[in-house]
Amino acid sequence: MPLTAEKMIPVTEVLEPRARDSWTHTREGEHRGYIDSDRLRELWIHTGTACNLACPFCLEGSHPGDGRIPGMKLSDVEPFIHEALDMGVEQFSFTGGEPFVIRDFVNILDYASQHRPCFVLTNATDPLLKRRHKVLPLLDNPHPIHFRVSLDYPDAARHDVDRGEGSFDKALEGIRWLVDQGFKVSIARQSDPMEDPLQAENAFRGIFREWGIPEPLAFTAFPDLGTPGSDDGSPEITENCMEKYPTRESRAHFMCTYTRMLVKKNDQVRVFACTLVDDDPQYDLGGTLAESMDERIMLRHHRCFSCYRFGASCSAPT
Ligand code: SF4
Repeated sequence: MPLTAEKMIPVTEVLEPRARDSWTHTREGEHRGYIDSDRLRELWIHTGTACNLACPFCLEGSHPGDGRIPGMKLSDVEPFIHEALDMGVEQFSFTGGEPFVIRDFVNILDYASQHRPCFVLTNATDPLLKRRHKVLPLLDNPHPIHFRVSLDYPDAARHDVDRGEGSFDKALEGIRWLVDQGFKVSIARQSDPMEDPLQAENAFRGIFREWGIPEPLAFTAFPDLGTPGSDDGSPEITENCMEKYPTRESRAHFMCTYTRMLVKKNDQVRVFACTLVDDDPQYDLGGTLAESMDERIMLRHHRCFSCYRFGASCSAPT
């Protein structure tokens, strides 16, 4: 049964709201739900918020020249890659902005894929297309690279309204090139509240046929996650709500149990809880991966409700 706001109104232990810390307590004074981390399996690296596109719905608020999160350099991430390897990490994953806008990104990806499988979120438009000659040699690295390309809707005009004219065709050109070279590719699409997922994905497959792209590409559908600093009014998650996920196994789909994300703040690299919460400093868990895994993560951010209710996850096997 869907969990409604009404169902989450606390029935016990209502405390004086202002006497409580908003990190640990809801507006109504109940204890918040939380996640204790398990072990680091996937390390995300936020390459920076600069992007060649300026989509109004972007959960990162990215656009050309944006510096909310500065660009990563290889020298920034190298020590964390080695710390993660020492902790048994299984995958390195990258998000932006558009990673290929960042000058050092191909070097970072080259370095990471010497050590573990990699996963890259990209719009597969000009920044990737211009660097094809640099990306191709990465196929020979010891570990595979999986690209997840954003293709919002199976409708060029609707996709291009927000991403800019010609973006749909460029992304398809990027997808076709990646697939033709032998890289693994999947698609990040946007979900419509009332959609029939099979119908939506069949429409994509028809377009792939027209473009000569093999059809069995996997899809991940995302709800609207809001822009940075926004609050969509989602219900707050209390400790009682978490009774729905009582065991370690049942909580395993929350990315904060097994991932961390590196985010550059000014000149320092900080470790955040997951890929969805870089706009709230309370999810900054420290300057090393080891210390970040000891922190209890309170489910305060409105995007935590997407994890709670829909199992939203940015992760994918490589
Ligand atoms: S957004 Fe999801 S993965 Fe991130 S801290 Fe909240 S519950 Fe955990």
